[in-house]
Amino acid sequence: MWSAARVPGPLETYRFPGNQWRHFERLKAFPGGYLVLGDGICGFNPVYGQGMSVAALEARSLDTCLAAGDNALARRFFKAAATPAKAAWTLAAGEDLRFPDVTGKRAPGAGLINAYMDRLRAVASADPVVCTRFFEVASLLRPAPSVFAPRIFARVMLGRRKATSRLPLPVRLTTAR
Ligand SMILES: Cc1cc2nc3c(=O)[nH]c(=O)nc-3n(C[C@H](O)[C@H](O)[C@H](O)COP(=O)(O)OP(=O)(O)OC[C@H]3O[C@@H](n4cnc5c(N)ncnc54)[C@H](O)[C@@H]3O)c2cc1C
Repeated sequence: MWSAARVPGPLETYRFPGNQWRHFERLKAFPGGYLVLGDGICGFNPVYGQGMSVAALEARSLDTCLAAGDNALARRFFKAAATPAKAAWTLAAGEDLRFPDVTGKRAPGAGLINAYMDRLRAVASADPVVCTRFFEVASLLRPAPSVFAPRIFARVMLGRRKATSRLPLPVRLTTAR
């Protein structure tokens, strides 16, 4: 079947080769009348499918901030926008940093977390409760630490594992400011 497959058009590439988070929330001042949103704040390895979700959550934060007026809007908005950015960054950057040739700062204990996530994914392929939690976290519907909730932790540690393969592709990481 695959031997009969045809390429429908020329190959396209995306131009930016890494995760990047610009920490506007750390700025002391920002020009009035301007804001940055979406990939302009934080862009991720597209393999995790998080960029649009983060942009939508930032838009919701902006709506909340605007409801309180435009006083110090940039400061309030960038602070609020950092929450969804951090949630997605933790997942995307943490996963990419598994690869030894990916450059970036590794958090203490990252190896343990990666080992736990390997086990979680393997159990998730046979346990619908763990599988649901994995996708809830990957889709930003629940915070990342909820994969360690006692009920999930017990199922991951005691559950039966099926062989699984890792999905992500390695990319270069930067944390520009
Ligand atoms: C291959 C790939 C797959 C992806 N898959 C997913 C996915 O499955 N799920 C998901 O959530 N996210 C995915 N993403 C990420 C998602 O596309 C982005 O995070 C999201 O589009 C960011 O929205 P944005 O508005 O910040 O930027 P964009 O959507 O890039 O919008 C920026 C717009 O500004 C325009 N523009 C740029 N420069 C100028 C200029 N000088 N003047 C005027 N206009 C300008 C551009 O043409 C563009 O229309 C994927 C990204 C890629 C590259």
